Amino acid sequence: AYLDRIAAVDGQIHAFLHVAAEKALDQARAVDARRAAGEELGPLAGVPVAHKDVFTTKDMPTTAASRILEGWQPPYDATVTERLRDAGLVILGKTNMDEFAMGSSTENSAYGPTRNPWSTDRVPGGSSGGSSAAVAAFEAPLATGTDTGGSIRQPAAVCGLVGVKPTYGSSSRHGVIAYASSLDTPGPFARNVLDAALLHEAFSGHDPRDSTSVDAPVPPVVEAARRADVSGMRIGMVKELSGEGYQPGVLQRFTEAVELLESLGAKVVEVSCPSFTAALAAYYIIGPSECSSNLARFDAMRYGLRVGDDGTRSAEEVMSLTRAEGFGPEVKRRIILGTYALSSGYYDAYYGSAQQVRTLIKRDFDAAFQHVDVLVSPTTPTTAFRLGERTDDPMAMYLADLCTIPTNLAGNAALSVPCGLAPEDDLPVGLQIMAPTLADDRAYQVGAAVE
Ligand code: GLN
Repeated sequence: AYLDRIAAVDGQIHAFLHVAAEKALDQARAVDARRAAGEELGPLAGVPVAHKDVFTTKDMPTTAASRILEGWQPPYDATVTERLRDAGLVILGKTNMDEFAMGSSTENSAYGPTRNPWSTDRVPGGSSGGSSAAVAAFEAPLATGTDTGGSIRQPAAVCGLVGVKPTYGSSSRHGVIAYASSLDTPGPFARNVLDAALLHEAFSGHDPRDSTSVDAPVPPVVEAARRADVSGMRIGMVKELSGEGYQPGVLQRFTEAVELLESLGAKVVEVSCPSFTAALAAYYIIGPSECSSNLARFDAMRYGLRVGDDGTRSAEEVMSLTRAEGFGPEVKRRIILGTYALSSGYYDAYYGSAQQVRTLIKRDFDAAFQHVDVLVSPTTPTTAFRLGERTDDPMAMYLADLCTIPTNLAGNAALSVPCGLAPEDDLPVGLQIMAPTLADDRAYQVGAAVE
């Protein structure tokens, strides 16, 4: 049924870069066979999933939506991919994204943009916009994403879905094509909180193949999603993450969601996190700095594209021609920004300062969580914007992740849950629920209570 739906609507939505119809049917039959042989399978066995094209898959191409990896088929599965397969999930195909997960609209894909199923002249968010659009268009019941600065929560919010950034290190980066290694976090998309929790549980947990993997049990997210109770909980509204610059309808739905939490028995207080106002600036130093190092591996020798290798040019010339053609403008902008911020003489002023801001943000969270169980804010300042509206203005594009970035810098968990449509444009609004490190279950518990 999902393959039929993809065939019917994906020409318009373009959520997928690759549809693996035959393989998906084979996987589904294999699950039936495992079940028939008496194997105890988990709750998601046989359930289809759309998989972001940033995860390596040994039987499907993996491009991270870049020309430089066009046609590349990885020799191994990412840990997340492997765990999806072990749990019996059926991978429908690979979803579109901003190139190397850099962007907030999926317009930075080298293979063309994805459209928001709620209104096809709008973006589906990004960078995991193919995943959010696939679930919103009923092309898949579940999808995977990665969240480095908001790339799961922001597309989930603007597509009316649940999206989760787990605690950093609690879902494996092994086989995730790296953007910013100290921030990249795989997480789930679903149409409700319990489904997201089931997918979260299916692929998270310690992985010895990821050196920053946390060796701790996965928080009891499924149990929390089932509990769906906020009575007696203390909830902090982050003062710095609302107000001026936010769309009125977003603020209205956010306020109503907070009132709902109060009516369900939570105690809501306002909390100030002063360093959050510097989060965006710090992120756009740290993210590009890490990317400039990570993307050095695309050297025209090891992977994918190679341009101008006709026997007359040096390795450096081939590398340069390949990168000129293989990387899109946003990726080049970030590599240049990152190499500049890391260069001698500027390192302390830019990278060093950004790391200090990161520490301050972590302290703001720690101080807040002394008094409250979770923090809330709108997930995004506006609803889905129009295709093309922000492509010439990187700063306007970067603002889409104003509310989500503090959590990435601090490494804790956050979930976005739909909280209605903005009255002015009838487009979805997301409520962001931020929880302490390894207390992801709290975000699920609150999210399930308000959905
Ligand atoms: N939109 C942010 C960026 O452009 C976040 C991306 C992400 O989380 N991968 O970097």
